[in-house]
Amino acid sequence: MNMRAAVMEKPHKLVIKEVPVPEIGDDEVLIKVKYTGICGTDWSIYTGKYSADRLPLIPGHEFSGVISGVGRNAKNLQEGDHVTADINMSCGHCFYCKKGNPLICPEFTQLGIHTDGTYAEYVKAPWELVHRLPKKLDFLKGAFVEPTSCVIHSAKAMEVTIGSSVAILGAGLGCLHAALARLRGAAPIIVVGRNKKKLALAEKFGADHIIGIDDVKDPVTAVQELTEGRGADYVVEAVGTPGTYEQAFRMVRPGGTVAAFGITGDQETIAVRPFDLVLGEKKVVSSCAGVGNDWTDAIALLEYDRLDPSPLFSLAVPLEELESALKELRENKELTKVFVSPELSKRKSL
Ligand SMILES: [Zn+2]
Ligand SMILES: [Zn+2]
Repeated sequence: MNMRAAVMEKPHKLVIKEVPVPEIGDDEVLIKVKYTGICGTDWSIYTGKYSADRLPLIPGHEFSGVISGVGRNAKNLQEGDHVTADINMSCGHCFYCKKGNPLICPEFTQLGIHTDGTYAEYVKAPWELVHRLPKKLDFLKGAFVEPTSCVIHSAKAMEVTIGSSVAILGAGLGCLHAALARLRGAAPIIVVGRNKKKLALAEKFGADHIIGIDDVKDPVTAVQELTEGRGADYVVEAVGTPGTYEQAFRMVRPGGTVAAFGITGDQETIAVRPFDLVLGEKKVVSSCAGVGNDWTDAIALLEYDRLDPSPLFSLAVPLEELESALKELRENKELTKVFVSPELSKRKSL
């Protein structure tokens, strides 16, 4: 049996073609893909920044679907179940796995980033990583469990306490960070960004103050002014540039915590004064993905509407339009989340 898939053959060469439907082993399930959210990582794969050594590859990792085949060892899963899957695969027996840090396992791989993913009609996944979606979660929100789990992983690392101030650099996934800060009882919540439409969204997601970087001389000073001159108790870097990381370290108050969330290029560096870290007792927590119970927690928050990501959903496009959508996301900064579906024949706004 064949299926349509978007295959990254080499950087900048994404081809829609017929490929065999994945064959599942005893420990795997086959999932018919409903939606996949386009992520910045997909652009990095497209441009050759990531995974160039893994090509040809079917990318796509933020997804929802319906089980259409079940391996012999799979438990509690049936054909027809609405699901998503934790994309993080670790060895389970190395030092890091045994220490409970599967994300830094040396054999760590991610579905759709290192192995074939979901820009296709079908995908296979290890049954143990599959999460059933509650009835209340539609397939769009189901495809948003993955980014939600990443933000939850970061929020758990930060451990924001009630009444603490949180400044967030970036108004993309920064919106979700704002929503989680609100759930944790943070105040005030400050979001710093450039795009006016995204900053307005950040307000919807719980920001008390928004700062447009083109409207102020220095966003660091602007955050200090909103926190009695101290700087924020917690600062989340959710942009991923050296400049914004440097701002984050200046924006956090002495004794405060910076959460490293945005991904920079692997060779990029920042200037930080160790003097400030030592005398200021500034802390850093870092997180690279959502894993394990971050997924069940993400599903619970989405199911019970503690977090409604729908205002971020811009557009759904057919699989055939993946490449143009990747480019549109770079050019049109008003777009936030764009989904791809092999079942759509024309695009629809959400
Ligand atoms: Zn992603
Ligand atoms: Zn391991």
